[in-house]
Amino acid sequence: TPLIDVRHLSKTYSLGEVEVHALSDVTITISRGSFVAVMGPSGSGKSTFMNIIGCLDRPTSGSYFLDGVSVESMERDELAEIRNRKIGFVFQNFNLLARVTALENAKLPLLYADNVIRDADARAAKALAAVGLEGQLQNMPSQLSGGQQQRVAIARAIVNEPQIILADEPTGALDTKTSREIMTIFRDLNQTRSITVIVVTHSDEVAAYADRIIYFRDGRLVNGEAAVPMPVVL
Ligand code: ADP
Ligand code: ADP
Repeated sequence: TPLIDVRHLSKTYSLGEVEVHALSDVTITISRGSFVAVMGPSGSGKSTFMNIIGCLDRPTSGSYFLDGVSVESMERDELAEIRNRKIGFVFQNFNLLARVTALENAKLPLLYADNVIRDADARAAKALAAVGLEGQLQNMPSQLSGGQQQRVAIARAIVNEPQIILADEPTGALDTKTSREIMTIFRDLNQTRSITVIVVTHSDEVAAYADRIIYFRDGRLVNGEAAVPMPVVL
């Protein structure tokens, strides 16, 4: 079974009299270990798609199987548990807690786990070392560059050893050189740990790190099952 199996997925928002079709009849499978870039104009449904894939939001109709399990049938706390165990999230603006250290930020997902994790500090330190921040464990976010802050966010995303990383415009606030460093980290995580990586981006250069690019337009998938060759060599 594919890791992600979405069929005839639609999401409609009702704003009073007006209905917004954020996603319409989206069908796609994403296999384990793949690296997917999600592209398309603003308002085309990318974030809505990521929110549903990440079990943060539910579809209006259609089905979503994550690792063979039907997500619609799950209760709210079951969804939260799946989300915490299987998925790591990375955002454009890092979303770190400003008042705690890099180590405490990276440790956060372990605090949400059902059972107490005794080696949480060691695991968070290991995750930070994996993104090259072994020397910055006790730094506050304000003492770190944008690229370093995004590395802390990536450490937080991998500390639970998730199957999937969902990153919504992770390089949107970073310069070109730093964007390349961040994308190289995603590529290494994809290749050495077989983590499935899905990245929303407006940048062709960022998308070139992926082995597949999917495009949304007006809530529809333009090329669901087509694989796209690498446009440039990096
Ligand atoms: P993108 O990420 O590609 O910019 P979105 O998924 O954010 O697109 O939005 C798709 C469409 O759905 C847009 O028209 C947007 O305004 C609308 N939309 C997204 N979230 C909501 C919401 N919570 N309530 C109402 N409309 C929404
Ligand atoms: P992006 O950078 O992904 O395009 P947006 O500005 O479209 O982000 O959306 C940011 C958040 O606001 C998303 O979680 C989206 O679901 C929500 N959102 C987008 N459009 C609307 C809307 N018209 N009404 C309510 N929420 C919205």
